[in-house]
Amino acid sequence: MTALRIALYDAGRPCYLCPMSDYVPAGPAGAADDDAVSAVIEHANANQVSLVRFLYADHGGIIRGKAASSALLPSRLRTGIGHTVAMMAMSMLDSLQPVDGMGPVGEVRIMPDPSTFVSLPYAPGAGAMLADLVQPGGEPWDGCSRTFLKRAIADMAAEGYAVHASFEPEFTLGRREADPHGGPDRLVPVDDSLCYSSTGFALAHDFTMDLLAALQEQGLQVESYYPELGHGQQEMTIRHAPALRAADNHVLYRETVRGVAFRRGLWASLAPKPVPDQAGNGTHLHVSLTDLGPGGQPGEHQVFYEPDDEYQLSATGYHFTGGLLAHLPALVALTCASVNSYRRLAPQMWSSAFTVYGMDNREAAVRICSPMLGDAAGTVNLELKPSDSSANPYLALGAVIHAGLDGIRRKLDPGDAVNVDPATLTDAEREARGAHRLPDSLGAALDALEADDLLMEALGPLRRQAYLAVKRSEAADFAGRDAAWECFQHFTKI
Ligand code: GLU
Ligand code: MG
Repeated sequence: MTALRIALYDAGRPCYLCPMSDYVPAGPAGAADDDAVSAVIEHANANQVSLVRFLYADHGGIIRGKAASSALLPSRLRTGIGHTVAMMAMSMLDSLQPVDGMGPVGEVRIMPDPSTFVSLPYAPGAGAMLADLVQPGGEPWDGCSRTFLKRAIADMAAEGYAVHASFEPEFTLGRREADPHGGPDRLVPVDDSLCYSSTGFALAHDFTMDLLAALQEQGLQVESYYPELGHGQQEMTIRHAPALRAADNHVLYRETVRGVAFRRGLWASLAPKPVPDQAGNGTHLHVSLTDLGPGGQPGEHQVFYEPDDEYQLSATGYHFTGGLLAHLPALVALTCASVNSYRRLAPQMWSSAFTVYGMDNREAAVRICSPMLGDAAGTVNLELKPSDSSANPYLALGAVIHAGLDGIRRKLDPGDAVNVDPATLTDAEREARGAHRLPDSLGAALDALEADDLLMEALGPLRRQAYLAVKRSEAADFAGRDAAWECFQHFTKI
């Protein structure tokens, strides 16, 4: 099955050898062509897949979908599966919000992208594809998050750049247990091992090997693994890929972490803070740009690389950083998208809390990552630390691209790098260096988003109305509730 996804995605070139070879040009959703349909059917049959999930991410950051019987795949690949428009007005608590155009009347199609077909190692007999939500006539729908990312990629391509990204997720491995005091169920971590400790490796080993195999079978290239700081906290990283695939990969990753855990009687959560007194789960977002060749394919030139710069970052890299910092208070409404996110985003948690960038500074919102020895030109990238898995990955990455692109277009200057922990500076020092505290709640982040003309314009009228309604409702529903209920609601869903 590994071969299948690589073949479909990478046009026959294994991503392990050539990670840049699988660029998916941005474009509107459309029904699958004959060759793509045949390839999916053939591989579904070869792998005894009888049910195929068509998956999408909603405004609450939840992965949802419908599944088609394999017997109907040839037609469903062309028609998609019918779905109510209202689901993009649903919150992470399944509370339907009043949004014009997303009520009980109206239909979209969950239209799968055949190049994303995988069989699911943790769900024998099932397969999955990532999907766009399209209008019944097949035209793109303004409420579709995957379409938002495709358009952001296209905007960046119009400037001559291809975007590459990777999501770097942390998660907590545990068991779901009843609270002895009658409160909401709790996530009880599988271990109390130390950060990066060999005991942590040993205690999570069987699960880890299952997860590694399951990700690789779906064509995701695992780069590294380690038990992290929090009890039961794990990190398994995935190699960067062209932006659309990176976001698709993160959906598959989230599905796989939980699916593998469930089959072992465990519960895994990528929620930002599933256990209140333990380290938070970040999903740092790494981004780099390459040039575009005449055919629209990514070129070899790493746009962020400048060997003569102090930090080996190019002027374009600094401008991109300037764009991220300028929009950051609004951006976090999309990258740190849940009420629970703001329990993680606090000073001196290594999750970042201030609008600064720095060289290998893990308390800076944007980290210039030191390049790998011997491959400086190929490994330069920027890491956004205020980012977690409660976000819709298509909206998060699309918004990051828009913010960075704005920085490039306006040649924004991010100021000097801050190479100390900004929490250790005085208020006056922070003010002088432009180090502003990030929003400390989802509500404050949404206020900043509403005030950010660029991101509001990029989202468009339908999407921004729905996103704000859904997220405002979540902020209201969690207001006044305790940490136990908040953590329960998040670890059971993310
Ligand atoms: N757990 C930290 C976070 O919430 C990240 C720690 C690290 O640098 O890996 O972002
Ligand atoms: Mg980490």
